[in-house]
Amino acid sequence: MISLYDLALTSIHGIGSKKAAELNEMNIRNVGELLDYLPYRYDDYRIRPLAELQDADKATLQATIATVGSVQRFGRMKTRISCKVIVEGKWITAVWFNQHFLKDRLIPGTEFVITGRWDAKRSQLTVSETEFPSSRQIKSGSVQPVYALQGEVTQSFLRKLMLQALAQYGTDIAERLPDEIIRKHGLISRSQAIIQLHQPSSEEEMERARHRMAFEELFIFQLKLQALRAWTRDRTEGIAQTFDREEVRAFVRSLPFSLTDAQKMVVSDLLNDLEHPACMNRLLQGDVGSGKTVVAAIAMFAVASGGGQVAMMVPTEILAEQHARTLKDWFAPFGITAELLTGRTTTKQRQSILAGLQSGMVQILIGTHALIQPDVYFQKLALVVTDEQHRFGVEQRAMLRRKGPRPDVLAMTATPIPRTLAISAFGDMDVSTINEMPKGRKPIQTHWVRKNKLDQVMAFIRKQLEEGRQAYVICPLIEESEKLDVQNAIDLHAQLQAELAEYEVALLHGRMTSALKDEAMQAFSSHQSHVLVSTTVVEVGVNVPNATVMVIYDADRFGLSQLHQLRGRVGRGEHQSYCVLVADAKSETAQARLKVMKATNDGFEISRKDLELRGPGDFFGTKQSGLPDFRFADFLADFQLMEVAREEAGRMTAQPDFWTAYTYQNLRDLLQKDERFTGIIVD
Ligand code: ADP
Ligand code: MG
Repeated sequence: MISLYDLALTSIHGIGSKKAAELNEMNIRNVGELLDYLPYRYDDYRIRPLAELQDADKATLQATIATVGSVQRFGRMKTRISCKVIVEGKWITAVWFNQHFLKDRLIPGTEFVITGRWDAKRSQLTVSETEFPSSRQIKSGSVQPVYALQGEVTQSFLRKLMLQALAQYGTDIAERLPDEIIRKHGLISRSQAIIQLHQPSSEEEMERARHRMAFEELFIFQLKLQALRAWTRDRTEGIAQTFDREEVRAFVRSLPFSLTDAQKMVVSDLLNDLEHPACMNRLLQGDVGSGKTVVAAIAMFAVASGGGQVAMMVPTEILAEQHARTLKDWFAPFGITAELLTGRTTTKQRQSILAGLQSGMVQILIGTHALIQPDVYFQKLALVVTDEQHRFGVEQRAMLRRKGPRPDVLAMTATPIPRTLAISAFGDMDVSTINEMPKGRKPIQTHWVRKNKLDQVMAFIRKQLEEGRQAYVICPLIEESEKLDVQNAIDLHAQLQAELAEYEVALLHGRMTSALKDEAMQAFSSHQSHVLVSTTVVEVGVNVPNATVMVIYDADRFGLSQLHQLRGRVGRGEHQSYCVLVADAKSETAQARLKVMKATNDGFEISRKDLELRGPGDFFGTKQSGLPDFRFADFLADFQLMEVAREEAGRMTAQPDFWTAYTYQNLRDLLQKDERFTGIIVD
């Protein structure tokens, strides 16, 4: 059977080469493309009962003319006709502007259908379209498609043309989805859906059509991602790491705690990936405090114990130093050498680290952006880890990767994006999720207090300090002025130190030198100070398990994910932890955010709410998101459908005959149209 995409427009009755040329201008070049040209909205000409109408509704009414029209003129060309009509036995006024020619046709007793804007107060319809019984009734009583127009092509021409094209070829519209999927998910055929979308018969039918097209859209999107992934994986020969699993087990046993089941599963994903000759490209996501670091450490250990080098890049010096301290402790008993490289590493230290990297003496390097400086060379970089990966740009991550010959890649993020969206947003990465907190953690209790209750907050902090715990106090955020934020921090620090005179109150903000920052952080984490007053610089990654109170001033100025990140600094040990949100939230969305924070500790739930409150565009940031504009699918409403489509697409691409069998030719054709399959590998 010939494809509709090879069939000339002129094969539709009533279309000549002139009309075909006009349609070409709209990128409609054949019958297939014409039928795919779907309306962007509908005009509803169904007749509605008067009682249902709201003021300013657009309405179509069945009416009988009751009086002759009276004409008013104003200006040279302008006219207004009004007459009384009877609808459902009631008298209403119908008004026409600048349709003087209608006057002689408004004969009492005539029935007609009028469409226009309803004015409830006046019981009056301002008519835009009038249909007398003599006119060919194509509109009244129906829902009419509205197509985007260009050039000479008119709406009524396109409507008639579609009707004709559907009559001739509607049932020949080819199916794209495999039979098994259609049957399994009870979808209607592509042909039925397209016909329905051009000529809707009912709301239910139209929803079924939309659902079917949304599924197709999501399925093809997922198919592309997964095919691309399989394709990239096959072609990116990496290094098959060799290490002794027994040694890795010994390392795991040496850790101060035992892994959660979720951590064990992710570790097993990682070790398998590392041993595999293809390049690993895996995203590890897990809620704040779920224990990602240790999982990365195990992968790093495996690679280093097998003779490869590892680079771990983190966004802040504070975090780099913290990780270096922890990892050095864990690795030292096994004779694995780890070094820290940041912007404040002294020249002399730096020289010796760089030399050690080239000779292979330094096995693990932890640091900030300092890692991607051009003079940093590795002898055999085999694994690259980025913590808080959303903080880095694509280019920075690529620069680190290029320091080795096809190293394996592990990226970690605490931004808890629901899994499906993560896969969409991160394209060709495999995703592992830690969906469980370490045992013994008590859920953080979150309270929202007004600013006039600050003395209660202070009393509460004092009580926790007396019990030997520590507290963070996050300063009010002043938008777009780091300088003022810093001043706030300084003032608040002075105030708190005065009130809590018997305790040590430390200060941390972005304008302090690295050395001072480190000192403040170090003092807090070793419990030399008891309270840490800080701007949001503690937001990422910081881990002080003895801290149990997180007070956030002006919490209404922070976004949901930032609040969740901040709150995640506590609740990291065995003690009950608290988050106190201080705010007189005025706006409704600010209140909504604080309520979400009170209601749940679950980062996935929070990010779902965040997505709901902000919409996907803002949520993911503009261009970076990698999320396509879907025509039929809606990210929130079709969330489940995306998951189903993802599973099906995964099953499909895993079939060995997907790339060869005739059954999948249609799908392969669609994939081949995507430029990403012509040779470029996306990041
Ligand atoms: P995040 O996922 O936010 O990066 P971390 O890796 O910093 O979390 O871990 C948070 C805290 O939980 C750390 O103090 C860490 O040592 C501890 N931790 C991690 N895994 C476990 C576990 N299985 N049992 C107990 N504590 C754990
Ligand atoms: Mg972390």
